[in-house]
Amino acid sequence: MSESYDAVFVGAGHNTLAAALHLAAKGWRVALFEQAGVAGGAVKTGEYTLPGYRHDWAAMNLSLFAGSAFFKAHSADLIKHGLEFAPVAHPFCSAFPDGTWCGVSTDLAATTARIAALSPQDAETWGKLCAGFGAEAPHLFGLLGSPMKMRAIAYFMLKTLRGKGLGGSLDLTRFLLQSPRAWLEQTFASPRVRAMLGAWGMHLDFAPDVAGGALFPYLEGMAGQAFGMVIGKGGADTIIRAMVAAIEARGGRVETGATVTRILQQDGRATGIELADGRKIHAKRAVIAGVAPGALPKLTGTATDFDAKLAEFQHAPGTMMIHLALSALPDWAAGAELQRFAYVHLAPSLDQMARTYQQAKAGLLPDEPILVVGQPTTVDPSRAPEGKHTIWLQVRMAPGTILGDAKGEITATDWAGAAEPFANRALQILERYAPGTRAKILGQRVVPPSELERDNPNLVGGDQVCGSHHLAQNFLFRPVRGHADGSTPIKQLHLTGAGVWPGAGLGAGSGYLLAQKLTGK
Ligand SMILES: Cc1cc2nc3c(=O)[nH]c(=O)nc-3n(C[C@H](O)[C@H](O)[C@H](O)COP(=O)(O)OP(=O)(O)OC[C@H]3O[C@@H](n4cnc5c(N)ncnc54)[C@H](O)[C@@H]3O)c2cc1C
Repeated sequence: MSESYDAVFVGAGHNTLAAALHLAAKGWRVALFEQAGVAGGAVKTGEYTLPGYRHDWAAMNLSLFAGSAFFKAHSADLIKHGLEFAPVAHPFCSAFPDGTWCGVSTDLAATTARIAALSPQDAETWGKLCAGFGAEAPHLFGLLGSPMKMRAIAYFMLKTLRGKGLGGSLDLTRFLLQSPRAWLEQTFASPRVRAMLGAWGMHLDFAPDVAGGALFPYLEGMAGQAFGMVIGKGGADTIIRAMVAAIEARGGRVETGATVTRILQQDGRATGIELADGRKIHAKRAVIAGVAPGALPKLTGTATDFDAKLAEFQHAPGTMMIHLALSALPDWAAGAELQRFAYVHLAPSLDQMARTYQQAKAGLLPDEPILVVGQPTTVDPSRAPEGKHTIWLQVRMAPGTILGDAKGEITATDWAGAAEPFANRALQILERYAPGTRAKILGQRVVPPSELERDNPNLVGGDQVCGSHHLAQNFLFRPVRGHADGSTPIKQLHLTGAGVWPGAGLGAGSGYLLAQKLTGK
């Protein structure tokens, strides 16, 4: 083998990049090999419609990254290499079919007044939840940031018991097991407040009735109120460009257009990788694969019990992205104030979200999909020519494999034929909430689930979270019991990425936990 490094990585998603940077900072020689033309995986920015209009390919909300332990440790380095955030004071709102709306801004009085207009009782509840968030946050973030090892869990439980007592700890456990609907209905009276928060579950494969999902509407609501949101200045890829530059500045290497086809092994130990062009790269201390769990056995060529369990890993329904270059922001029927929000959710009720999820799970194109409308240029005008805008529509959810159409209109059962009519359905929904938007479209790019997967094979069937986070596949069980720390039965081979605890999102959690484990912090 001609080339040799301490650690060799499969893929350059944000988790492998975070792990590589941490290792490089500790003196390891690292090299990452990425099959796509640019690094970043689900975090990419490009001119996907017209020149001068920069669109986030997939992820836009960088709050998890900005709040992560990884960023805390490496922020100086990343900022030196160009990372720049754009803070958002109006993170999210929901518009409803009757022209009303509700939204969360960092100004507590403004949020409370909006909620009070729907339900004075809910406004009071919101105030109480916000006041208690400071005390709850260390327990919840402590859990999400802990390695999933029995010792770490025992320590977490002990700390929670000390902090909250037995009753409080059991209440926390009950909350962690609840579905979004169970918690939202017990907590809020207004169906619109419930829907506004419940929409966050849909970002993560937690439809209203899925156990274990209550945490996400709560956390996103409270964090949105307390901190707002951050997006990337110029694009979400600010974090990727900075990580790549910081790795390269430490002598590391990030090669794109380089597909890894095999993980090389000798005597039960991973010794390197082979690339599609036949090159072999040697790894002295670790091979770290940032791939979907089900893809690992294809690289190792093994067929152990562990591999069989990886093959059972469940993916969530897919997403379709629609990128639009616009002459002006949508004129929201609910009011001009909605133009200030980073995310406008068109997800009018918990029942509709549940129906959408059920349809997508059954392989049907939903009759009325949930839309997340991202309006980055309201915060960061640098992404479009002066006075112009970019938005994306995240169409949640869409089946990876199409068996039919819940509305009985679209006959195509592959994405080549279904993408356009389904995108049309989504744009008609947008038009209902913001009349005249279609006339403002200067450029458009539709990315169906199949193309998300083609671009990044980790997004199996367009599954944006690389595997459902339902209780049986989360915590100690992500991706497989006994391996939530990314370890594998092959020595020196580690799995990382969204398929490994703590899962999807831009918190760099699995990559950073692994790198800390390898370096002893
Ligand atoms: C549409 C969408 C919207 C999202 N929105 C948000 C958001 O706003 N905020 C948020 O926090 N999270 C969001 N997420 C989730 C988040 O982006 C992902 O969970 C996260 O990016 C996953 O990171 P990762 O490190 O696991 O790798 P990925 O981003 O999945 O990247 C993995 C990389 O590995 C490469 N690769 C795989 N196999 C090979 C191989 N054999 N050889 C070489 N390279 C290989 C892939 O090409 C890819 O580049 C979104 C995701 C999607 C898809």
